[in-house]
Amino acid sequence: MRLIDSHCHLDFNSYDDIRDDVICEAADAGVTRIINPGTDLERSQRALELADTYPGVFAAVGVHPTSTVGFSDETLAQVRAMADHGKVVAIGEIGLDYYWDTAPKDVQWAAFEAQLALAAELELPVIIHNRDASDDVLSILANWAADLPASLKDRPGVLHSFSAPQSAADRGLELGFYLGSTGPVTFKKADDLRHIAAMVPDDRILVETDGPFLTPVPFRGRRPNKPAYVRHIAERLAAVRTVSDAEFFAQATANTEHLFQLPAETE
Ligand SMILES: [Zn+2]
Repeated sequence: MRLIDSHCHLDFNSYDDIRDDVICEAADAGVTRIINPGTDLERSQRALELADTYPGVFAAVGVHPTSTVGFSDETLAQVRAMADHGKVVAIGEIGLDYYWDTAPKDVQWAAFEAQLALAAELELPVIIHNRDASDDVLSILANWAADLPASLKDRPGVLHSFSAPQSAADRGLELGFYLGSTGPVTFKKADDLRHIAAMVPDDRILVETDGPFLTPVPFRGRRPNKPAYVRHIAERLAAVRTVSDAEFFAQATANTEHLFQLPAETE
């Protein structure tokens, strides 16, 4: 049974000595495709290089909210130039982060809105990072989603590694967003997250590792998290949603293919 890891930072140093093995191990586990989002210009470039190297790797390019200090027109121009690459499937990850105190709010907002506008212009979906910033993220997204090109109406983007309250999930789903589920949905005390994951419509749920972080049970605590482990997240979600693994894996794969408009696998 196939799956896609819809979000893994394969470009991070934690994979430097093991990247080939990690990608092979994933393929052996049926995880033949991986989306590698960028977090700043350099890492977005690195994601493109990995997409060039590995047939199953696709890239997103963008500047993460914690890296937005110094974001300028020139930064945006570079994101735009990178987005021209044939294996770029989204702008991301972008958003707001009020947990880490690394960039002032107004700087984060400006970078977020500029990259959202770019995504609409290029007709690419967005990968959204939200940490302790649900109200501002959702109101900015509501503004943006009100005026989208037709091609993005049913696939504006994903609320990645969703870990906000139910009300934020409801608002995101109303705007057409997908919800990305990560390792914490397998954690013992995560009943709230499982409750939310159980009610996401079938055609809006994605699975992702967010590697190297958030390793799921039964490997919780080990680093790095690996794309092969996305199966453990998917199996838990299938149980929570009371569908078979086969059915859930197929649905999650189809959702990821649709959101990112991935080419069909040939064999
Ligand atoms: Zn991430």
